[in-house]
Amino acid sequence: MENKGVLIYAEQEGGKVHPICFELLGKGRELAEKTGATVSCALLGSGVSDAAQELVAYGADTVYVFDDESLAVFDPLAYKLNVAGLVGEIAPGLVLFGATFAGKALAPRVATALEAGLTSNGIALELQDDGSLLQIRPAFTGNFLASIKTKSSPIMATVRYRALEAGTRDDSRQGAIVRKEVQTVQTTVKVLGKGAAKESSIAAADVVVCVGRGLKKAEDFALVKELADALGGVVGATRPLVDDGWISKDHQVGFSGTLVKPKLYIGCGVSGSPQHLAGMRDSGTIVAINSDPSVSLFRIADYSVVGDMYEIIPQMLEALKK
Ligand SMILES: Cc1cc2nc3c(=O)[nH]c(=O)nc-3n(C[C@H](O)[C@H](O)[C@H](O)COP(=O)(O)OP(=O)(O)OC[C@H]3O[C@@H](n4cnc5c(N)ncnc54)[C@H](O)[C@@H]3O)c2cc1C
Repeated sequence: MENKGVLIYAEQEGGKVHPICFELLGKGRELAEKTGATVSCALLGSGVSDAAQELVAYGADTVYVFDDESLAVFDPLAYKLNVAGLVGEIAPGLVLFGATFAGKALAPRVATALEAGLTSNGIALELQDDGSLLQIRPAFTGNFLASIKTKSSPIMATVRYRALEAGTRDDSRQGAIVRKEVQTVQTTVKVLGKGAAKESSIAAADVVVCVGRGLKKAEDFALVKELADALGGVVGATRPLVDDGWISKDHQVGFSGTLVKPKLYIGCGVSGSPQHLAGMRDSGTIVAINSDPSVSLFRIADYSVVGDMYEIIPQMLEALKK
């Protein structure tokens, strides 16, 4: 990594930068301070130039802007062509993408074009004394953390949203904004319609009230929702409830669901499997409510409430009302 640049793919939609970029910039700056590297961003889209200044404020030294009508819709092939071209031109040591839907569609294509390795779904990046970079990601369904070193160059990784700390915004920061010529491809992507964005609601929430198989029937979500509403939060769920069709997948917390890092996480009738813990262990304050005092979630909880969630939640609501 010594003196090698860091390039961050700056995902945006409608000119609004995805908050994962601020987290990647936070890590990029940390690496830059240690290695003397520069931090740059690749910003692609149509009418996105305004977002470049925001990326500078969060830590980019240079923002390469590919602003063209042909990039208005996220097309992995067109985006790949331009990002891979930029990597070839500026030769960074490390290229980072958010492990979002778009990032996960783009990163493998760029890696293939560059014949580079790719670590997907990383949760941490650690610089070693010898200047190499460890990429850490859950493995074996979240039971272990694998530390990966890449032999190929550049090092490439996708990192999960909410896994890293966001950099601090400083609007007085100076950086270069470089407009790049856009390469186009014959596209096969056609947007037929657009669903409502859901992905970020649970990931970005400050309060998550998560429920597990302690819930007896789907209708009882109303009780959990009442607690989440009272705390200004959102409802999360363990995977079995999603698999049973009781709640949609975008509420699932965990290894194969969404990574959450709220200020307050309350787990109701959640045992704390490794796959679940992989998605919430970095939450601020963790409260666990369970009738079984031996469950794993209690081991990482700040507050452990042993009891029936159907009795505890109404008491909490009563106290909150007061
Ligand atoms: C490849 C793979 C990926 C996975 N990904 C995920 C993932 O992303 N997220 C995830 O959550 N799981 C995931 N799982 C599933 C995971 O292994 C567990 O099965 C799951 O997390 C358990 O969910 P749970 O805690 O709701 O259920 P259980 O383990 O059955 O726990 C239910 C808990 O409720 C308590 N309880 C029961 N009644 C009450 C009551 N009235 N009041 C209070 N407590 C009560 C019980 O004591 C128990 O501790 C994955 C599994 C695999 C194999």
